[in-house]
Formats: sequence, C-alpha cells, structure tokens
Amino acid sequence: MYPEITRRSPNFAATPAHERLGVCFHHSALAFDATLALMLRPESQVSYHALIAPDGTRCTLVADEHIAWHAGASEFLGRTRCNDFLLGLAFAGDTYAAPLTTAQITSALDWLAPRWARHGWTPARMTDHRQVAPGRKDDLNPVEWERLQAAIVGQLGGG
Ligand SMILES: [Zn+2]
Repeated sequence: MYPEITRRSPNFAATPAHERLGVCFHHSALAFDATLALMLRPESQVSYHALIAPDGTRCTLVADEHIAWHAGASEFLGRTRCNDFLLGLAFAGDTYAAPLTTAQITSALDWLAPRWARHGWTPARMTDHRQVAPGRKDDLNPVEWERLQAAIVGQLGGG
C-alpha cells in the first residue's frame, strides 16, 4: 500500500537474537532523509528497525531479528535494555511541531499487523520512548501517542 525501501544501517547487534516482545515507538525529530543519513553513518551508533515518512513510505534499516540501537538507557516490563526485546519503529519529524499524518499511522498499522499475529502482541506490549526513558526522552508527544494507541486498538484489537 505504501512504498517500502531498505537501507541497511551498520548500527545493530546480530547477537543475541532479538526477543521481539513488543514495539517502542519514536519520532526522529529530523526529516526522513536526514534521519536515514544519520543512521547510515557508523559513528552515529543509532538506528531504528524502520522509519516512516509523512507520506507513509517505510524504510527498513535493521532486520527484525537483529538488535537496533534506538532506546538507550530504558526500562519496560520490569526490564532494562529495551533494545534487546523491543523493536524500534520511528516516525520522521517532531510530534510536538506537527501531528502524525494519517499516512504515517496507517503505514505503522501495515507494518504492525503481520508482526502482531506472529508474536502474539497486545496493546500492553506497545510503548514509546518517553515512557521507557521518562525525563530523558520526550517522544512521542502524549497526544500523538494517544492517537496512535487508539488506532492500534481499533485496528488490531485489545487484549
Ligand atoms: Zn526516541
């Protein structure tokens, strides 16, 4: 439905295998192309599994089975090191400056749907950077997180 491209980031760990217990959502603050450029540079040491442009285009940067470097010091489900067990999905842009586009939300749902079924996820396994690193990170804007969460529950179901 939306274009999908792949740009392999060098910033990932192939072992241990990613546990894929859920998803940590982000906004990148930068525009789509600037975010990709940052994540393709090894010295940046940052990556997401995928990045979604305002028009819904998705770019895969790190394979699901590998650990991307998106959350840093973080805690969720009573565990630290969220990168080990949460996939990182990011929206290009700044959700405090502009709301998520409808295309971004729909594209995120398209990305989520097959993984939701495969991994047995529920809304309780979805979170964002602000919630796993409180006081250190502010993405997503809480209003946009509420919009996204409502779309996820509406499309993929509660549980
Ligand atoms: Zn973030």
